[in-house]
Amino acid sequence: MLFDDYQAPSPCRLRLDGGALVRNYEKLSSFSGGETGAAVKANGYGLGAREVVERLSAAGCEDFFVAHWGEAAQIADLVDPQNISVLSGIQEGDMEFAVGLGAKPVLNSPLQVKRWRHMGGGLCDVMLNTGMNRLGISEHELEPGLLDGLDIDILMSHLASADEDTLQNEEQLELFMEMNEQITARRLSLANSAGIMLGEEWHFDLTRPGLALYGGIACEDLQGEIEQVAFPEAQVLQRSIIQEGDLVGYNATFTADRTMQTAVISIGYADGYLRAFSEKGSAIWQGIRLPVLGRVSMDMVILDVSDAEDLNEGDWVAMDYEPLSASQLSGLSQYELLTGLSDRFQRIWHD
Ligand SMILES: *Cc1c(COP(=O)(O)O)cnc(C)c1O
Repeated sequence: MLFDDYQAPSPCRLRLDGGALVRNYEKLSSFSGGETGAAVKANGYGLGAREVVERLSAAGCEDFFVAHWGEAAQIADLVDPQNISVLSGIQEGDMEFAVGLGAKPVLNSPLQVKRWRHMGGGLCDVMLNTGMNRLGISEHELEPGLLDGLDIDILMSHLASADEDTLQNEEQLELFMEMNEQITARRLSLANSAGIMLGEEWHFDLTRPGLALYGGIACEDLQGEIEQVAFPEAQVLQRSIIQEGDLVGYNATFTADRTMQTAVISIGYADGYLRAFSEKGSAIWQGIRLPVLGRVSMDMVILDVSDAEDLNEGDWVAMDYEPLSASQLSGLSQYELLTGLSDRFQRIWHD
């Protein structure tokens, strides 16, 4: 490729606080008591799986959970592949790749158990369905002998509503304990980020936080405990003056009611800054709040910069993207806000 010795300048960047990531891990780990793994699927929730895995490994994290086999391959040189769990399970077409890579499938159905056994087995994980009815082996499928002789590392289940105060959490816990009595595994695991805060009974040998590692406030009890990790920033492309009555952006959803100063910045819905922030979101520059005017475009957002006289073309503004408040403002989940961050961002880690 032409110019491949150079990194093209990017007008949007994601500032990533590696220190905050590690402090969030340590905090969740102290709440968990026992071992604490990390969900790093979807490119480490949008932050960059390799950087996340390197930092968490250095902080003592040993178990990593991904969704796809390709995601396991992306980090397989950084950790022992036998400490990577592939949550999507194993289909016929995955077998060769899986065996070659050496990561663990999370067996989700009796058919997957049979398939894995047929291939000679090897270390694996197993998912039980305790009430979410997404992936996992259900109670009625757990026939005597189904899992006998399998070398199961992590026997797990997943909580559907850990972020809520609901009876479902107790029900899933009880069913998990009942089902795992008949199964031999090295370790048991039930809790995601919010599940950690439900209490000790939910912790078992290993917890599996994702969202909270990356700064998401997964439940009320984590407020004040978790630090923001990802900070999207965008460069000012142009600054203008508009007059009373002038229309702004696609479909002219904003009309100036006075003379205003505007700035176009380089971030848009193709970067994961979705149209839910139209007329609602804001950026910050030197402590000054700069509201979004009109609709978010694919690559750009128009800001009211009337209060920021010294802001110029080429300057960088920080988007207001604190996960919990941005979620409340936009109606998007904190998960969507993070995992949607595009690969157009230059990701810049600091400690
Ligand atoms: C994504 C995922 C997690 C992490 O959940 P968070 O809510 O992000 O903490 C844990 N376990 C499984 C099975 C998952 O799919």
